[in-house]
Amino acid sequence: MPNLLYDALFAPHQGSSKPLLYLKDGAVVSYDAFLRQAARIANALTDHGVKPGDRVAVQVRKSAEALALYAACIRSGAIFLPLNTAYMPNEVEYFVGNARPALVVCDSDAHAALAPIAKAAGARLLTLDGDGKGTLTDEAERCSDHFETVPRGADDLAALLYTSGTTGRSKGAMLTQANLLSNARSLVEAWRFTDKDVLLHALPIFHTHGLFVACNVTLLAGGAMIFLPSFQVDEIIEYLPRATSMMGVPTFYTRLLDDPRFTKDLTRHMRLFTSGSAPLLAETHVAFEARTGHRILERYGMTETNMTTSNPYEGERRAGTVGFALPDVEIRVVDPETKTVLPDSEIGILEVRGPNVFKGYWEMPEKTREEFRDDGFFITGDVVSIDKDGYVQIVGRAKDLIISGGFNIYPKEVELLLDEQEGVLESAVIGVPHPDFGEGVVGVVVPQKDGSLDEQSLLAAIHDRIARFKQPKRIFTVDELPRNTMGKVQKNILRDRFAGTFQAK
Ligand code: ATP
Ligand code: MG
Repeated sequence: MPNLLYDALFAPHQGSSKPLLYLKDGAVVSYDAFLRQAARIANALTDHGVKPGDRVAVQVRKSAEALALYAACIRSGAIFLPLNTAYMPNEVEYFVGNARPALVVCDSDAHAALAPIAKAAGARLLTLDGDGKGTLTDEAERCSDHFETVPRGADDLAALLYTSGTTGRSKGAMLTQANLLSNARSLVEAWRFTDKDVLLHALPIFHTHGLFVACNVTLLAGGAMIFLPSFQVDEIIEYLPRATSMMGVPTFYTRLLDDPRFTKDLTRHMRLFTSGSAPLLAETHVAFEARTGHRILERYGMTETNMTTSNPYEGERRAGTVGFALPDVEIRVVDPETKTVLPDSEIGILEVRGPNVFKGYWEMPEKTREEFRDDGFFITGDVVSIDKDGYVQIVGRAKDLIISGGFNIYPKEVELLLDEQEGVLESAVIGVPHPDFGEGVVGVVVPQKDGSLDEQSLLAAIHDRIARFKQPKRIFTVDELPRNTMGKVQKNILRDRFAGTFQAK
């Protein structure tokens, strides 16, 4: 039996001297060197007793070795479990306790803090980085670069990836070999990736976007990546001339637009810029096109469903939308109350079915049952509408929907209006307990640089612009909105902070 994912993404490049990674220090890692290292790491994992089906939890800085560890897990049948590098030891404790990995791999500076956590969970702990004795990289150096690939089928788990924890506690999404492979295949086709592509890769690799979209697409197509540790405007400007394509989150684009060195000349040769993970403001889309002549291709996905929709490569890329379902992916919009499928243009919950959809939440059978319909559709929890031409528009998250006095309020509509007001940099609109209305609408605004905002003038400015029941009853000013490391606004934190707004004194 073959190993579906390994055979498609990695095995075809065995022996190839073609570059896979261009690193910041100038080093170039060829496919062959990369795969040899991955094979040695796979041997080292096996020496440590890691067996097919075991989880390998990995919290390490982005590096060529970290990516080789991913390849090693796939090849040896272990389940790759990447963890956000921003997570503190007590957060890692939750993931390790939940997933019960056989092995935890970390950076050397985190070893002391994670040692008791790994020990309590009965997992081995190894470091990856540096040339220090006893690191996994060092051990692998002494291993053979021959490794007998462990057979894995379509339904076997390739990865356990936790959701970003924007709406609550992170859940472990079980991703199969077939999930990841089908997604990489449709993306290579949809975005026309080839072995000529050099992807400017500044995303983290512990998240679905940076790992399964960006890396898997490149590997399947046989392209190369300029592999940067993080997003730094200076570095993007330095490396753009050598790239053909870039995948990013909205803040990448707003930060590039803030820099006058980011010019049309710098991007003339590029064939593709994509954005996902969070909403790209239409004004960013427009400003980017005005500056560079490129229309950013916005797409949408989630940990559970991988990449799900995309604006077209050829044809109109419509600002403020995330495009169409990928080939083989079915989508529909469902009324949250009646559970019936809604016609075009109506707002409801997006449901998804297809080879990209995960197998379920790790050890949460109840939750898994709740989030799947009997006919196999997964309930995303994202509120969307599909316009008459079929473009999907994300309106928000079901959990952020505000019900005030029996009326439904989609925060995004109010946020867009607040954002338009003079002096407002950005805003978040939330519902908090209200004695009469159930929930009361609260606006939280961030003033523009060096500016200040006044609640009464803001309330007056929007008074005639939006139905009374949607208007915030209070508006608070904050220095910045709480965001997780993927740049998503954490409304649950805001809801907690302003929970007492309408409580009787
Ligand atoms: P959790 O499920 O733990 O609350 P999360 O949903 O943020 O966290 P991810 O799976 O990383 O975790 O993110 C997927 C979500 O990101 C989607 O459900 C959607 O709400 C949002 N998202 C992704 N791409 C876009 C986009 N292009 N526009 C708007 N929202 C997007
Ligand atoms: Mg989610």
